[in-house]
Amino acid sequence: MLPYGTLHEAEMAIGRDLTFAERLWFSYSAQKSDYYLCCHTILFLFLAFSLVPLPLVFMELKNLKNIDKYKIQPKLRLSSADVFRCYKEVMRIFLLVVGPLQLVSYPTVKFVGIRTGLPLPSGWEIFLQLLVYFVVEDYGNYWIHRLLHCKWGYEKIHRVHHEFTAPIGFAAPYAHWAEVLILGIPSFLGPALVPGHMITFWLWIVLRQVEAIETHSGYEFPWSPTKYVPFYGGAEHHDYHHYVGGQSQSNFASVFTYCDYIYGTDKGYRYQKEHLGKLKENWRSGDKQNGGLYHISTQYIKSE
Ligand SMILES: [Zn+2]
Ligand SMILES: [Zn+2]
Repeated sequence: MLPYGTLHEAEMAIGRDLTFAERLWFSYSAQKSDYYLCCHTILFLFLAFSLVPLPLVFMELKNLKNIDKYKIQPKLRLSSADVFRCYKEVMRIFLLVVGPLQLVSYPTVKFVGIRTGLPLPSGWEIFLQLLVYFVVEDYGNYWIHRLLHCKWGYEKIHRVHHEFTAPIGFAAPYAHWAEVLILGIPSFLGPALVPGHMITFWLWIVLRQVEAIETHSGYEFPWSPTKYVPFYGGAEHHDYHHYVGGQSQSNFASVFTYCDYIYGTDKGYRYQKEHLGKLKENWRSGDKQNGGLYHISTQYIKSE
């Protein structure tokens, strides 16, 4: 709740006129408690998860010719029942685990210093904080994900996420409840280390979800704006990880590619990329004997 009764009081306290965005924020949040604002996070997460994958589901189910050429594993297609089962299962975990956790996480949000007041952060502040959040999350996620690929971690927990060998957008958070909880740690670590405004926190939660959905989309679009993000992994990078499955010791990072490069866990993938021209053709024609997009690199990994 803002400590000002009127716009004028807020402007007097800040020492300048409020911007348009600050006026909007004032009119929305002035009478709402910080706890109530904090609870919006789960709503934004639900909305991003439910709405962003819908165009991808449409493409998956409609077999559109112009779009299909961008599908990474075109031979593997899911039915509407498969897609709905995936959505239902993720929503069940969200409602039973993530939602209640967010409802009781308010003291932590307050403790780390995420603020709700005025002035609002500048565009640069938001951008730099989001950048830190992505880098911190990517690094933490890399090591947790790599640990989950040990025998026990995979069989007891991570196997669920790998049920989709050709992932779809809705499968981004499809995982064992324990994995959803564990991977929440690197997601919250960035905002805890560099706390910002509640609006930045909401943006982070939505953008992270959108990024994970794109990474699990199963489509590699050459026009995606993420192509301009340095070291960005994208769908093909992570699709390879899902294709190889439980035995995969490659492409663990969630956002960028540099961790896999530095720690040498992208060798199979890079080998595959070097041969991509020829192999992609084989894969699309279904000629697995001649390699297929991933087949030869899978053998390469096994023989490493
Ligand atoms: Zn994995
Ligand atoms: Zn995945």
